[in-house]
Amino acid sequence: MTQVGTRGLKKYFGEVKAVDGVDLTIHEGEFLVLLGPSGCGKTTLLRMIAGLEQPSAGEVIIGGQVVNELPPRARKIAMVFQSYALYPHMTVFKNIVFPLKAQGVKKDQWQQKVEAAASMFRIETLLHRKPRELSGGERQRVALARAMVREPSVFLFDEPLSNLDAKLRNSARYELKRFQQDIGTTTIYVTHDQVEAMGLGDRIAVMDLGKIRQIDTPHEVYHEPANTFVASFMGTPPMNLIQRNNVLVGFRPENFLPKEIYDVSADLKSFRFYVRRVEHLGSDRLLYGFLKNDGDEEDTATIAKVPLNVSVPIKEGQVYEFAVRTQNIKLFDRATGLRTENDGI
Ligand code: ATP
Repeated sequence: MTQVGTRGLKKYFGEVKAVDGVDLTIHEGEFLVLLGPSGCGKTTLLRMIAGLEQPSAGEVIIGGQVVNELPPRARKIAMVFQSYALYPHMTVFKNIVFPLKAQGVKKDQWQQKVEAAASMFRIETLLHRKPRELSGGERQRVALARAMVREPSVFLFDEPLSNLDAKLRNSARYELKRFQQDIGTTTIYVTHDQVEAMGLGDRIAVMDLGKIRQIDTPHEVYHEPANTFVASFMGTPPMNLIQRNNVLVGFRPENFLPKEIYDVSADLKSFRFYVRRVEHLGSDRLLYGFLKNDGDEEDTATIAKVPLNVSVPIKEGQVYEFAVRTQNIKLFDRATGLRTENDGI
């Protein structure tokens, strides 16, 4: 198992600071997800680790060695892209064997290595087929088998599931995680899909404008965002951020509920909530509305997510008393966007 790191890593394309000083340590056997909006620099960062892109500054360290000067082939990594092109004219067997040939592995070892990789991804019965005779999910598994047959020290994935439909994505995600846990290979996985990030990552590094804004476990990134970028990027709908005095008061829609459902002894912050629109989502109701002006601040657009088992009737166009437990309130500095303990509410 191999540790991977970057030190002050930068990549500028002319004026564009695609990666702008990234320091990362990915532990041995860890599954790290790089998450961020389109264009934030995820792919560029991954490509520098792979050796497909030369850094403008900084170092890439794999297994304790600075590898900036090493070509991709010498880095013992395997990369799977969104468009994991399989060779269409070759059978699955030949596709998987291809990197072994390129590596100069002896022919008498091919069968055993391909079979091991194929059984890991349950594609043993497909080895004689061509890619066009496979479903999207099966092709995906062939690509993964082809990547792992070389027994790499590090896996790099760039949105490998994004061309699968929603149902297949779920099962492929499960398989990918199971497989990574089984073999324990250090993995870096790029996505802009936060559900995928939450489900797969041991830790998530949230990126924006070429920088890492927070790196922590899925639980911490969701519940304890370090800044307003992470707070409003994670969660659907995202965290509500309300201006009060010198701070932004943050609370998640699912923690913003009718006051009457709380225990009388609960430590709460209450708001008058004007509900403009109710959306029924099956297991939840989403309430879109405004906090009613209670002073010098303006009414603020706010969302509540109320589970179906909270049977309080709520109508559009009415004002209700809503509340958040104070422990679920996160405060941010209005000027810097960073978390603050200052309770100016
Ligand atoms: P996506 O999720 O859309 O793939 P990303 O987070 O992976 O986005 P990158 O592909 O790393 O983002 O791109 C980061 C920034 O660098 C973008 O502004 C992009 O336009 C720019 N960029 C990437 N590659 C090049 C290049 N070869 N030449 C010039 N600019 C580039």
